[in-house]
Amino acid sequence: MKVIVVSGGVISGLGKGITTSSLGRLLKARGIPVTILKIDPYLNVDAGTMNPYQHGEVFVLDDGTEADLDLGNYERFLGQSLVGTHNLTTGKIYRSVIEKERRGDYLGNTVQIIPHVTGEIKRTIREVAQASGAEVVLVEVGGTVGDIESMPFLEALRELSYELGEGHVAFVHTTLVPVVGPVGEAKTKPTQHSVRELRAIGIRPTMIIARGPTPLAPDIKAKISLFCDVAPEAVISVPDQSIIYEVPLVLEAQGVGTHLTRLLGLPDREPDYAAWKEFLATYRREEGSVEVAVVGKYTDLRDAYLSHIEAFHHVQGRLGCAIRLQWYDAEDLPRNPGALGRLKRSDAILVPGGFGTRGVEGKAQAIEIARTDGIPFLGICYGFQMAAVEFARHALNLPSANTTEVDPHTPDPVVCLLEEQKALTGLGGTMRLGAQRVVLTEGSRVAHAYGRTEVWERHRHRYEINPSYLERFREHGLVVSGRAVDGRVEVLELETHPFFLGVQYHPEFLSRPEAPHPLFLELVRAALARKEVPAPVVAPPAGA
Ligand code: GLN
Repeated sequence: MKVIVVSGGVISGLGKGITTSSLGRLLKARGIPVTILKIDPYLNVDAGTMNPYQHGEVFVLDDGTEADLDLGNYERFLGQSLVGTHNLTTGKIYRSVIEKERRGDYLGNTVQIIPHVTGEIKRTIREVAQASGAEVVLVEVGGTVGDIESMPFLEALRELSYELGEGHVAFVHTTLVPVVGPVGEAKTKPTQHSVRELRAIGIRPTMIIARGPTPLAPDIKAKISLFCDVAPEAVISVPDQSIIYEVPLVLEAQGVGTHLTRLLGLPDREPDYAAWKEFLATYRREEGSVEVAVVGKYTDLRDAYLSHIEAFHHVQGRLGCAIRLQWYDAEDLPRNPGALGRLKRSDAILVPGGFGTRGVEGKAQAIEIARTDGIPFLGICYGFQMAAVEFARHALNLPSANTTEVDPHTPDPVVCLLEEQKALTGLGGTMRLGAQRVVLTEGSRVAHAYGRTEVWERHRHRYEINPSYLERFREHGLVVSGRAVDGRVEVLELETHPFFLGVQYHPEFLSRPEAPHPLFLELVRAALARKEVPAPVVAPPAGA
């Protein structure tokens, strides 16, 4: 078992997740099987109950784990799916320690942070490594070195390094080298301090990844090397990139792949970046452009929609046209005529998922515009549910139609609670979660987009489409074109529209740079096609 620990210093938000993912990619490009594990030192058991405004998007894994968004970065950079054990939190560790204590597993001993909590952390890391079959496990420690919460984890990793012995663990420390003053001087002092902090707990970094706005000059690298006791070739500069998928190549160009393989005694084969480089080259072509409107309620914090943004990057890397995302605050939209006017000129509209009542009317309004103006539309989860609500209100003439999430007493509950949800009280991990099989109708638009009639997609919802309205939907052109094996509605599409698709699941979680998600791809293709020849909206069948 070989381990690469990635810690962070000075400030959070340095892109440690991207760094860790990129390091994984360097090894994978050499044919070395890798996996990544994220440590989140907060006390929440998982990210499922956390507000996207505080912590960004909740990323859902195949097994239904509601994880930190960095897990999404790992999956995208590595092109492999992970499971819930790859997101370790203080909440999970303490829960299992306390359960063991209650069972009497500690045989009367006093239960302490060291060795019991650290022991539990080491055991979990070893187990994840073993189960994954990877040769190298990357462990990203969330937060900043010096935080009280991350102490037990760093201590456990120090112990693990000692137990595994020389040449088995590499400590990579990511820091900020700010550029200040009128002449733009790069400052190394914060890096020195954070390395000192790390050394005080017994960890000596073997590589420093310096983040900053511009590349580090050789003398600054030399200074960091000297003051922090790290080999000169192990001080790596990662300046801000216009696209994150560039980072593996930035690291590679500074010899990081070779350095790491040497440190860990791994074979240093010639790395293969053929597909990765092709993706980046196509991405940069920017031939033509489309404007995609995203109508959501967390638009002030882009991390809340990270997987959507990345999915569009992946599409750009496949189609070579510039995709410009325009953000619309769903709550503000109904009272902002200027924004409504702009929205009408969009080439495509995406309404993502969400919870609660805030912003739903704006979503419905955006959907109505997409439907009646023939603008390509993709509705995801809540966006899909609201498409059904909007259709019921305006096409079926049921003005009070709603989801019971917003109006529990609506006379027309077009979207209502899943049967199994009715008796639940707790909020953590209780939704319909994770990968489920979806069967698509042969000949439908959605089946055409995927090129097959059976897919697995990830879910995260409590409410679902009420089947008693489906017949009327169909009569007016909104048809079910995908169902779960138990019959639940998974996909609705409008037959009379150039591209109007709603899905109960979250396609954004499965998009990868080398494999953009078919639904995002088709949405943008439809937008491009409409720019060339605007397709008319066909009237519903007469008498319907
Ligand atoms: N709030 C809706 C539900 O719980 C949609 C969830 C979502 O968009 N992820 O069913």
